[in-house]
Amino acid sequence: DQASKLNQLLEDHSVDLDANHKGFVSIVGAGPHDPDLLTVKAVKAIISAEVLLYDRLVNKDILELASPQADWIYVGKRCGQPSIGQEEICDLMVSLAQQGKRVVRLKGGDPFVFGRGGEEALALVKHSIAYEVIPGITAAIGCSANSLIPLTHRGVARSVTFVTGQVVTGAFEAWSQLMQSGQTLVFYMGLEKSSQIQTGLINSSLREDFPVAIITHGCSPQQQVHVTQLNQLNELSITLKGISPALIVMGEVVKLREQLIETVQSVTEYEGI
Ligand code: SAH
Repeated sequence: DQASKLNQLLEDHSVDLDANHKGFVSIVGAGPHDPDLLTVKAVKAIISAEVLLYDRLVNKDILELASPQADWIYVGKRCGQPSIGQEEICDLMVSLAQQGKRVVRLKGGDPFVFGRGGEEALALVKHSIAYEVIPGITAAIGCSANSLIPLTHRGVARSVTFVTGQVVTGAFEAWSQLMQSGQTLVFYMGLEKSSQIQTGLINSSLREDFPVAIITHGCSPQQQVHVTQLNQLNELSITLKGISPALIVMGEVVKLREQLIETVQSVTEYEGI
């Protein structure tokens, strides 16, 4: 029956550690909050983990999928305290693997999209540690589906670019040109830079009423979608100050949402529209 097929699917995770007693690291994308958006492969890795190293954006419900014997180690940002550095995370991961542990390094979204997964993989290679990378749904993909903003759409947007709002110097001309030629831009980590983004893009001749959406707590029950236009981006960001995580989507595709939400139905509590 269907249940046993699903069980079969989840059963064995292909890595056989008993064969060599060496540690192994799975760098796993946990997707954007909703556990239902995990890949089957991610679930398998989590189930067989002995230690989970996880970031701030990883939903605790996902950690609960692990065995009760598994250790959870938080390596994300800490409020009011110095955060654990990237080097320390790599060292910890390496030393756990060297102790022969089955380590799962859980990261929000996809490990290779603004996730420093590449750096962590390089550290493992440097120490000759066997590992795998399991993709996750990146915030842009999850949030756009869940807020009904298609990232590409025939006749509206032919391509999409993911950028980080953290490094904005000198990029406005290029971004403005991309959007003027009908492309969609998604800004990760852009909320705090809204003022610079707004000014930079308008100075690079992107029209003031260019469509913008900010999606906060995407793919969670708290998800909110705020639709605005470029010259009001900063004002809106001020009202959302401190809300994290937040994603900014810019492009004519934002306007499609109005029609697309008409008959949409939330299937689970995580599909907050
Ligand atoms: N590797 C992650 C991105 C990490 S950078 C991924 O692939 O999604 C962190 C940024 O991602 C946040 O500042 C925010 O811009 C975005 N983000 C991650 N999860 C999000 C969510 N659930 N809703 C909105 N934005 C999110």
